[in-house]
Amino acid sequence: MKDLAKPIVRFAPSPTGRLHIGNLRTALYNWLFAKGQGGSFILRLDDTDTERSTDAFAQGIVEDLAWIGIVPDASDKQSNRVAQYDAAAAKLKEAGLLYPCYETPDEIERRRKRLMARGLPPIYERTGLKQTNEERAALEAEGRTAHWRFLLPNFTDDPFSPTRTEVHWDDAMRGEQTVDLASMSDPVLIRGDGTYLYTLPSVVDDSDMGVTHVIRGGDHITNTGAQIALFKALGAQPPAFGHHNLLTDASGDGLSKRTGALSLASLREGGIEPMALASLAALIGTGQAVEVCSSMDELAQLFDPTKVSRSPARFDERELEAMNEKLLHAMPYAEAQPRLTAKGMDHGEAFWNAVRPNLARFDDVAQWHSVLEGNFVPLVADVEDEEFLAVARDMLPAEPWPDDVWKQWTSALKEKTSRKGKALFMPLRKALTGKEHGPDMGEFLPLIGPEKTARRLS
Ligand code: GLU
Repeated sequence: MKDLAKPIVRFAPSPTGRLHIGNLRTALYNWLFAKGQGGSFILRLDDTDTERSTDAFAQGIVEDLAWIGIVPDASDKQSNRVAQYDAAAAKLKEAGLLYPCYETPDEIERRRKRLMARGLPPIYERTGLKQTNEERAALEAEGRTAHWRFLLPNFTDDPFSPTRTEVHWDDAMRGEQTVDLASMSDPVLIRGDGTYLYTLPSVVDDSDMGVTHVIRGGDHITNTGAQIALFKALGAQPPAFGHHNLLTDASGDGLSKRTGALSLASLREGGIEPMALASLAALIGTGQAVEVCSSMDELAQLFDPTKVSRSPARFDERELEAMNEKLLHAMPYAEAQPRLTAKGMDHGEAFWNAVRPNLARFDDVAQWHSVLEGNFVPLVADVEDEEFLAVARDMLPAEPWPDDVWKQWTSALKEKTSRKGKALFMPLRKALTGKEHGPDMGEFLPLIGPEKTARRLS
């Protein structure tokens, strides 16, 4: 028997592009919510739009989620389940709750404008519902095909006199919500070409898959009113709902999967660490401090759906950069080691600890690997510095070097040459690393070692 205490959630992207950070936010909220309570996570691909959905995008979504650490417990796609939608549509038709309409998009638009011009809400007037079978046959003889609308339960006896009909739910993220079913048009469930729009399949799937919580973007709030009515019309128990705020880009525009903006794939390619991205995607636009978590478990501990703000949150790539650096600067050697080994750049814990504060990307480690190996172009020292470097070479501490070799060496040099501060340290750093900035020399010098150090000073 199903364990009622354990949530079942689903993430339901349409495979019409690669996931962006806004989609990731939805996936994460579902994942963190379910996993925090030992529940399960379904990946459902909403591929009813057959023209724009592709297998390659579906595959990309699975890969993007896996990179973040989200591995669904089950997955399915809507194109596999058309028979179930047909059965639900037949049930609704039989109950008189799904009716044919023959207006062209143009006619619908003209009527909408006319109503708006009269200051009336542009709600569909259920013209299709009034038509007799003869009228419908005549329209079909003209070559028109029907699209099908769900008759919203927003009236007592007469569907042509809707009255305020409130649907309430206690939203996991926004608290008490109310939608008035009389304020919206009967939604189209089936297009003229017989394909399904998202509204009905989603309800059928959620019901068949035992989904307990639907967590999705705030752009679906109105849908929720209609979908709760649909669950009931199909004799199913509606799940609980949670609607999170949406993300915009830095200029305040919405994100779109189709444009590839801020896609996980491009961020990954650009060297962003998955946990930097996941932490930001989950915590931005909440009442909580944006902290970088090093594991999904840690993020699950922090995540609180009731803290998600209502207003849109602005995603700033600079914040992601900063979090990425923070994550790398704190990354323990044990975590970095397999990646260093894979690159042939593992020089032990002391090396990692010395270079990590200088990394903006993990791959930047290659720079310091080269420095260590001596594969760099030395910076030309001016004449005065050359003399200083010769003195420095002569005064290199005897082997074996003590732990504080840098300190001992530079103190002695200071005394001998009267140089101090930048004039003392910079020529040494430049000669030994070929750079003006970099790891703490106290940590890095012992890694270079006496022999290479002497050579670099000659
Ligand atoms: N395919 C829909 C979307 O991407 C799913 C919405 C839902 O979660 O119900 O917006």
